[in-house]
Amino acid sequence: MSVLVQSLSLLGAMQAATVALMLWLGVHSDESRAVRSLHLRASALAVEALGYSTVAFGHYLPAGTATLGGNALNLLAQAMSVVALRMLLGAPLRWRAAVAVGVIGWVGVAWFAAVQPDYRSRVLWGSVAIACNLMLNIEALVRGRWDNWSRARHALLWIFALSLLLLVWRNGMLWLGDTRLDSVLAPSSINVFWMLLSGMQSLFYGLGFLLLYNELLQRQLHVMARVDSLTGVPNRLALEERFTGMLATDAGAHAPFCLLLLDIDHFKSVNDRFGHDCGDKALKALTRRVRDVLRGTDMVGRLGGEEFIVLAPDVGRAAGEALAERIREAVAGAPVSIDDRDLPLTVSVGVAEAELHERDMSTTLRRADKALYVAKHGGRNRVVVAPTYAGGMAR
Ligand code: GH3
Ligand code: MG
Ligand code: MG
Repeated sequence: MSVLVQSLSLLGAMQAATVALMLWLGVHSDESRAVRSLHLRASALAVEALGYSTVAFGHYLPAGTATLGGNALNLLAQAMSVVALRMLLGAPLRWRAAVAVGVIGWVGVAWFAAVQPDYRSRVLWGSVAIACNLMLNIEALVRGRWDNWSRARHALLWIFALSLLLLVWRNGMLWLGDTRLDSVLAPSSINVFWMLLSGMQSLFYGLGFLLLYNELLQRQLHVMARVDSLTGVPNRLALEERFTGMLATDAGAHAPFCLLLLDIDHFKSVNDRFGHDCGDKALKALTRRVRDVLRGTDMVGRLGGEEFIVLAPDVGRAAGEALAERIREAVAGAPVSIDDRDLPLTVSVGVAEAELHERDMSTTLRRADKALYVAKHGGRNRVVVAPTYAGGMAR
């Protein structure tokens, strides 16, 4: 079977153009970093498609256009891809380095094409530029925290590593093999393999990029689904997950932990007197006030409305009561300032120590809620500790 390099280049061009369209149209447009990076990668693929076309139609173009133009387009596409990937990963863009690699790469290629024609040196020079770009990509993928590793990152790393191998193989064949070539268009198995694999590489890289984008979105959704949009603290779902995690640790390490249920006293009247907006600001101010009292390991979250939960690890009933008392004092101790207005707030707190047989947050929460009810009926601005299953209500 004989395959023309021109046909493969045309196939590569069509492939790159199709993936470019897929990346461009396959995402909802917004101004986020991820979407901008995807659009940049799509534009790079469009430039790459043009680069392949110059090789495919090299015979119809003025002499030297395929070499000088095609390499310029390919190096430009690579610089754009480097910046796009680094943008997606949130790494420093290093666009100056990418542009420098492209310019130096092209000058060398042009030198060995027009001034001192030498095909092997030209390929070697271009390959070093491509390798530099690959290293910039690999550096962006491996930097950062190791627990950030994902399947898409692994897939892209493999693609880049195999691309490096492809470069080594091509140059090895050109320098050490017995075939002497003078152009990428020359009919030879080296050129056919190179065109075939480098064309597939842009397809795989495009898919890897899309996978990475998809993972990023999923991670963002995961976080967004666990944050209370008004106060920015964890919401009920996040609290439940943390509670279940603490229960598992508690069972293993026999370390006690407490759930504190806070409810703002007479909050409805804040809304009624000063408006809902002011009420919202009061909720945010209260969140900050509570946070300031807590240790780094404690978690404050919003259960809903004007009710908050604090999860305090390694804290038994007595220490839980002391913590609740500190929170109560911090809130009642000074009014919160909202729109140049001082607003006195108080909270009632129900404290329950989690018990090993409780399987999720709801049962502990029920006991804390009963204690809170007692605190409200006892006059508000107070702390009540829920009994264990054996004992009575502690105050
Ligand atoms: P109590 O001392 O018995 O807790 O009295 P309360 O007025 O705080 O309690 P109640 O449950 O009767 O009312 C809670 C109020 O919290 C009702 C609602 O107006 C207000 N609220 C709930 N969620 C929000 C919110 O997101 N923003 C604002 N501004 N107010 C909220
Ligand atoms: Mg309430
Ligand atoms: Mg209330």
